[in-house]
Amino acid sequence: MNVNINTVTGPIAPDELGITLMHEHILYGYPGWEGDQTIAPFDREAIVNTGVELLEQLKSLGVKTYVDATALDGARNPEIYREISEKTGVHIICSTGYYYEGEGSPTYFKFRSSLGDVSDEIYELFMKEITEGVRDTGIKPGVIKVGSSKGVITDYEKMMFQAAARVQKDTGVPIITHTQEGTMGPEQAELLISEGVDPARIQIGHMSDNLDMEYQLSTFKQGVYVSWDRMGLQGLVGCPMDEQRYPVIIDLIKKGYADKLMLSHDYIGYWLGRPLNIPEEALPLIANWHPTHLFKNIIPALKQGGVTDEQIKTIVEDNPRRLFAGE
Ligand SMILES: [Zn+2]
Repeated sequence: MNVNINTVTGPIAPDELGITLMHEHILYGYPGWEGDQTIAPFDREAIVNTGVELLEQLKSLGVKTYVDATALDGARNPEIYREISEKTGVHIICSTGYYYEGEGSPTYFKFRSSLGDVSDEIYELFMKEITEGVRDTGIKPGVIKVGSSKGVITDYEKMMFQAAARVQKDTGVPIITHTQEGTMGPEQAELLISEGVDPARIQIGHMSDNLDMEYQLSTFKQGVYVSWDRMGLQGLVGCPMDEQRYPVIIDLIKKGYADKLMLSHDYIGYWLGRPLNIPEEALPLIANWHPTHLFKNIIPALKQGGVTDEQIKTIVEDNPRRLFAGE
């Protein structure tokens, strides 16, 4: 099994990962943004400058690796990631895979699957990206991203999970997921494990969106990594407040789950298309939605709740390494 990790500038050893943000985005565009380019053209230079500034800031806080969780239907752009990584020296790991049905671009494979089984086509695509690179860039994704809908894993999504599972088993590359509005975390873990994926190679995402202890434990108990990766994102897309999240996360750490927990923000550095019209009253809710939040606010809050430096290191550095290394 290959224990080298694919970054956008080439393979690295697990020990080189350092402090890792496991679920962020350099840029993002919902499918359909392309159609609005007459009004809001693609500005490569602005994206690169924004990304460089962001990663320089994170580098000064000790971040060594930034995992970009953008699936290939979210305007993923490996060449831009490579340029930003080269300019800053921060490792960037990009994703292969497709987003959940509701907000991805399912039409292409759904149409193809109306004519016959396309499981092998999806498998072939993810495999080729990981082993040879995206298009002709030579840039190989280091994670497989899949997602499910609110309260259901649809047939389309199941097809993606199954292809992801096959590719995971053949390459060793870990799977990271999107859960919608705090649902289907335990079911995603179950599905992937039933397809033969080692739980130590699975990270269930957006688990910070559901604070029910039973929901948390039924995911953790399956041995997967559980990612609290929407920190700072409050009151939107079904997210609770950080003040409500802290006691739950501290409780989970006290229950002994520090070695399965990850922290990130699902931050989007640059939105493709027109600027977002975020309502005035929502702005204070997302004032801390930025990857520096971990260092400025989250770690201090956890420490105040009795979490040790060693446990924090486990969460921000050791767990990402173990997920990628399959330790
Ligand atoms: Zn995300």
